[in-house]
Amino acid sequence: MATIFTKIINREIPATIVYETDTVLAFKDIAPAAPIHILVVPKKEIPTINDITPEDKNIIGDMYLAIAHIAKELGIAEQGYRVITNCNEYGGQEVFHLHFHLLGGKKMGALV
Ligand code: 5GP
Repeated sequence: MATIFTKIINREIPATIVYETDTVLAFKDIAPAAPIHILVVPKKEIPTINDITPEDKNIIGDMYLAIAHIAKELGIAEQGYRVITNCNEYGGQEVFHLHFHLLGGKKMGALV
């Protein structure tokens, strides 16, 4: 089912887009949890990690390549950053369109 991220991908609602490829879009999180908080999403509608299929392997690789590219562009590659994907209720997922949170710009604390 289409989510708010599909609307952002289709430019139906605004977002601060920082990077785009044929398969991936990256934009600033509306409620940043760190000085740098970018969401990296596949253009294909994949609700959760549980829904990834073997045919999505290239897309997942594209998402990580996008993260590495953005981190370099934003100057945080060397100091480091954190990448998180939440899955379903216990993982704290709120938007059911697969995404990576790219968090940086400060030293991260405990994982949970
Ligand atoms: P989740 O909890 O599903 O892992 O993360 C969803 C993220 O999407 C949250 O960090 C939330 O702030 C962000 N978010 C929700 N709605 C919007 C929106 O309309 N625009 C943007 N840019 N981010 C959003």
